[in-house]
Amino acid sequence: MLDFVRFLFQMGTKRIETTWDLVRFGANLRVRCRCGHVATIAGTEIDFMRSKRRWPHPLGYLRNKFRCSKCGRRPIAVDLTANDPTVKIGPSLADIMAANSAKDES
Ligand SMILES: [Zn+2]
Repeated sequence: MLDFVRFLFQMGTKRIETTWDLVRFGANLRVRCRCGHVATIAGTEIDFMRSKRRWPHPLGYLRNKFRCSKCGRRPIAVDLTANDPTVKIGPSLADIMAANSAKDES
């Protein structure tokens, strides 16, 4: 069963609860596995993947979707970071912006 525990990040005075907040505040996620593997994923790529797969917005849901690329286990920790991404899971921000403007979303 999925654990829908509220998953709330605090970055200064900014509350980050959804993938869109990651994009808005330019934050990335650092995902840490028990095996020692650490990956930093761009917030923009996470939000793009969420919209593409029609996942709910809250980060608490996404947390259960992450899998370690080395051992396949779920992460033991997910933190906010401003560091550059170390892995790529989707298109670049420029690609995403081009797709969004084509859709003409408000
Ligand atoms: Zn691992």
